[in-house]
This record gives sequence, C-alpha cells and structure tokens, in this order.
Amino acid sequence: MKKILITGAAGFLGSHLCDRFIAEGFKVIGMDNLITGDLKNIEHLFQNKNFHFYHHDVTTFVHVPGDVDYILHFASPASPIDYLKIPIQTLKVGSLGTHNLLGLAKEKNARILIASTSEVYGDPLVHPQNEEYYGNVNTIGPRGVYDEAKRFQESITMAYHRFHGLETRIARIFNTYGPRMRLNDGRVIPAFIGQALRGEDLTVFGDGSQTRSFCYVDDQVEGLYRLLMSDYALPVNIGNPHEISILDFAEEIIKLTGTQQKIINKPLPKDDPMQRQPDITKAQEILGWQPKVSREEGLKTTFKYFKGFSKEELFKSEHKNFSKHIRK
Ligand code: UDP
Repeated sequence: MKKILITGAAGFLGSHLCDRFIAEGFKVIGMDNLITGDLKNIEHLFQNKNFHFYHHDVTTFVHVPGDVDYILHFASPASPIDYLKIPIQTLKVGSLGTHNLLGLAKEKNARILIASTSEVYGDPLVHPQNEEYYGNVNTIGPRGVYDEAKRFQESITMAYHRFHGLETRIARIFNTYGPRMRLNDGRVIPAFIGQALRGEDLTVFGDGSQTRSFCYVDDQVEGLYRLLMSDYALPVNIGNPHEISILDFAEEIIKLTGTQQKIINKPLPKDDPMQRQPDITKAQEILGWQPKVSREEGLKTTFKYFKGFSKEELFKSEHKNFSKHIRK
C-alpha cells in the first residue's frame, strides 16, 4: 500500500485530495495546523483505518515515521482576506514549510507535488497565461506575501529537483471552487452565494469588468492526480479556461439562487488582477486532461452545499479566529 502525506489536509483542496487518495487505495496522512483549515472537512475520514491526522504546523520541522511515497504540499492560506490577516504565516508556509517538506521528500525518497498558483503571473500582461510567462507581480503589495512565497516555492522546488535529483511536480492552480470552501473567506463564489442566501446585495468590486475562469474541484483534483502520476517536472497550469467577467458572474449567481437582491459596487482591491485565464495546452498534451464540469453544473452543487448551512452559520461573520496565531 502506497503512503501519501497531504499538508493542508483540513482545507478545501486538501480535504478533497484526502478523499481521492483514500478512494485510490492509499494510506493517507493528513497534516494541518488548522489556522484556516477545519476538521469538519475530514471528520468523515476519522473512522477509516487508512487515514491518520497530524495536527502540526509545517513551518517547523516535519517528522513522519516510516516510509512515505508521495507528498502533496497544499498548506497555505489562499484568499486575499487571509493574506491581509495572516501575512507572515502565509510567507512562512510557502517558504519555510516548503523547505521542510522538500527535506522530508529527500529523506524519504518521495515524490513531491507542490501547490503553486496563477498568482505567480500577478496582474498578467499576457493572455491567456501560459507556463512560459514570467508574470507581473507587485512584491510589496497586499498579495505579495502569497505571490512571492509561491514564486520562491517554485524556485526551491526546482533547485531540489536539479541539485538533489528529487522527483518534483509543480501545479499552477487557477481559481477553483466547490463544496467545503469557507463561507466567509472573502473569495467571490462563497461571497456571492452567502450574500444571496442571507438576502444581501451582491458586492461586485470595481466595475466588474475583471475576469476569472472557475474550475470545479473534481476537475481540479483529477488534474492534480494525473500530474502527480506523470513524469513532468516543470510547472503545469491546472484550471478551467472558460472565462467570465465578475459582473456577468454576479448575474449568473442571481439567476442560480433566485435572489431578489441587486448588485452593488465596492472599491476594487489593490493589485486585483484584471484578467485571468489558463492556457491548458500543456495539461491537455502531457496529462490528457481537461475540465469536464460546466460552470452551471458545478455552481448548482456548490449552491446546494451552502444551502445546507444553518441560519446561525450563515450569519456568523467568520468562524475562524486568527488572533491566537498572531504574535504582537
Ligand atoms: N470579488 C468581488 N466581490 C466579492 C469578492 C470578490 O467582486 O465580494 C472579485 C475580486 O475583486 C476579484 C474576483 O472577484 O476580481 C475573484 O476574487 P477572489 O478573491 O475569489 O479570487 P482572486 O482575486 O484571488 O482570483
């Protein structure tokens, strides 16, 4: 039986990856410090004898007993609001955390896949974004803590690959959505759906002409699985190329949810990328992968998930309390 370590296991993507690898017959070790993750996302796995959970912060030395065949490094805050609240933790998990996990991979002779991001392209000047584009990132802006940590993560991963001959994989993940996203992490899909369910107006930032391309989580997990099992060490974009403006997207959510509320405009956050669409030629050619789930279908499932929330959960401003993690 192959053993895989998944960091960020209690998070949105991490928990779906745990499910997938358990289903594939792996022994899964989930690791999370639970700053942004939630045990609710993996509690259904606690009875499974092939699943173990370690409550650990990967920015400190990571120890796992016995053999490890694969590592997926998915621990990181992943929303602009989180970067503002926990900027130093965001930097540390992408840099120090990645260093620890690469060290562990070397020690165990394991293959490691790291979760990089479309944010390495910053506010892109090339459209759609292909893997050869170097990006346009503001190092000192509010998103810089995430973007630069992820850029460093790619560099150190390639260095371990080239210098130590480690088997590494780099996924550049574009906007992904689905059940288990945090309702109040500020990302646009839970934000709009939450507003619709609470009977609030939908807040479009700026004039809504900025674009995104949303990938359903099952497609994302399939792409990541194939990348891990491939022999390709350079970065690969994993995302859905179907692009839409945020204003049109708000209209779609109004239709989907049947809300009577209207759209209101709020200021555009600093360095908010104006357009984003993955060029997935590489993923298609190397992994034989492309997304299958339409936005309509994926959003229906996601809406159903959030509709299951109690009134109390819907109106709680943010169930996560970061304060105990912030050193003054
Ligand atoms: N956005 C918005 N209203 C919201 C939340 C987000 O208009 O209530 C916009 C945001 O400005 C951005 C897009 O939606 O242009 C996607 O934001 P998200 O935080 O989900 O992801 P990212 O900017 O990292 O792609």
